[in-house]
Amino acid sequence: MEIGYIGLGAIGRPMAARLAARFPTRVFNRTAAVAHAHAAASGSEAVEDLRGLAAVDVVCSCLPTDVEVAAAVDELAPHLSSGTVWLDHTSGAPAGSRAIAARLATRGVAYLDAPVSGGPHGAASGELAIMVGGESAVLAQIEPVLAEVAGRVVHVGPVGSGMAVKAVNNALLATCLQATAEGLVALAAQGVDASTALQVLNAASGRSFASEVLFPERVLDRSYPFSFALGLLAKDLGLAEGVVADAGASAPALSVVAAQVRAAVEHLGADADHVELVRVVEQAAELELR
Ligand code: NDP
Repeated sequence: MEIGYIGLGAIGRPMAARLAARFPTRVFNRTAAVAHAHAAASGSEAVEDLRGLAAVDVVCSCLPTDVEVAAAVDELAPHLSSGTVWLDHTSGAPAGSRAIAARLATRGVAYLDAPVSGGPHGAASGELAIMVGGESAVLAQIEPVLAEVAGRVVHVGPVGSGMAVKAVNNALLATCLQATAEGLVALAAQGVDASTALQVLNAASGRSFASEVLFPERVLDRSYPFSFALGLLAKDLGLAEGVVADAGASAPALSVVAAQVRAAVEHLGADADHVELVRVVEQAAELELR
């Protein structure tokens, strides 16, 4: 099976490196130097034109949103053979996925939305959680590809449903980050040390990925390393709001958190790390969690 990978960002780079260790893998990146560096470091083959991926069996994409994926599909689809599978790891809009799937179907190309969770570290260790929308027969066909990059693959429904689940996942991530920051700041202001409070929360029902991993490993040590852009998290909250609107549902907690994340982007810039959402809460209270 030959792979083509489009988008060598924080997630795409390590995913494509794992795939290149197992399958012949061609890589394309908007900034071509990144693709050449990947080829030199990981044994992939860099292509400078998307048509260089025309003969692969599986096209993987990991771009900011479905809009950039749709543009890549428009350019590459006329050159793909019937029977090719397009595996989209982007976190995008469900409706965007459905439109892309319909466009590819006219060429006999199958599409799965397969957004990921686990960050650059999970991508490098092959332990991503992947939520897949699309046909089970197509998923079975590309299972060896996903096995290289995922610790857990869950088929969640038809095309677009992987994107919907991912949007809700990231809405929950942002909610836990914001709410845990607010709680720890209030406790710190009352003299309860944040690391002491976390010892209790993480043995109790207030725990989350944010409290168990992000606060101890990125906030309390003041390291705030970069892994996932705040601007991309804001994009995901917009997608979650779209999922709620499409369902005719209401989600007041989501609206509040989305507003906080957008305000954080205004304050810190879209290129800040997502965990820096906590900094905004700290700055409002004029204290640092340690
Ligand atoms: P990055 O910003 O690190 O990388 C974005 C990639 O997309 C780069 O390869 C960039 O190319 C390319 N790109 C950007 N704009 C365009 C464009 N207009 N046309 C073509 N290529 C373009 O993003 P991430 O890797 O962090 O995220 C990618 C996707 O994965 C997003 O949907 C994100 O929400 C999701 N995701 C990210 C996670 C993370 O922890 N980082 C975790 C889970 C999901 P160039 O090098 O030229 O800029």
